[in-house]
Amino acid sequence: MDADEPLDPTPLPALDRRVAGCRACPRLVEWREEVARTKRAAFADWTYWGRPVPGFGPPDARLLIVGLAPAAHGGNRTGRMFTGDRSGDVLYQALYDVGLASQPTSVSADDGLALHSVRITSPVHCAPPANKPTPRERDTCRPWLVQELRLLRPTLRAAVVLGAFGWQAALPAFTEAGWTVPRPRPAFAHGARVPLDGLDLFGCFHVSQRNTFTGRLTPEMLREVLRTAATAAGLG
Ligand code: SF4
Repeated sequence: MDADEPLDPTPLPALDRRVAGCRACPRLVEWREEVARTKRAAFADWTYWGRPVPGFGPPDARLLIVGLAPAAHGGNRTGRMFTGDRSGDVLYQALYDVGLASQPTSVSADDGLALHSVRITSPVHCAPPANKPTPRERDTCRPWLVQELRLLRPTLRAAVVLGAFGWQAALPAFTEAGWTVPRPRPAFAHGARVPLDGLDLFGCFHVSQRNTFTGRLTPEMLREVLRTAATAAGLG
């Protein structure tokens, strides 16, 4: 950080900046930077972000969406969660449809998109090879999610977790951040709803192409979970 740069006025942007500088996982650092160097032909004129992708959305969000990890040519290219890939196309369209996003598309970090009391994050902040972080990488990244949850805790009332990986990673983070998670930990399922103290946790199939192309997750299924979660969060 440049000494002349003004300090961030709130803790969450400061956390985001620290996340973006993290190099704790050697395999992921190497992969994200190699992808940023070699690029995909369609994005040859882009300067890839090539760093950890921090959460996106306001610091007083009432609803949190938890994914898995950035895509190599999506978030790792644009620097914003779910931005610039097919999964994001599905997610942001649904958020717009239910009134939680200002526009239905998310193509670059400076495209003007704003989320309405919603924040999007992931338990692993660097793009992993084959979209598969190791358990060790997931555990190494967890403190970032715990810190983010602690900062959001005063306003956060609902969370939608996309997919079983995110579910398994997020539940211990919610515990560490101060919520009471039932034991044994509830299993992931699409449509699962688990009341924690003061927060409702929802399970939803991930917006991956594998799920959306096959119809396992339809736009209406996604909108339904988001609508229910938004209501639980006191939105809409
Ligand atoms: S995955 Fe998380 S802990 Fe690992 S380098 Fe990226 S930001 Fe750091």
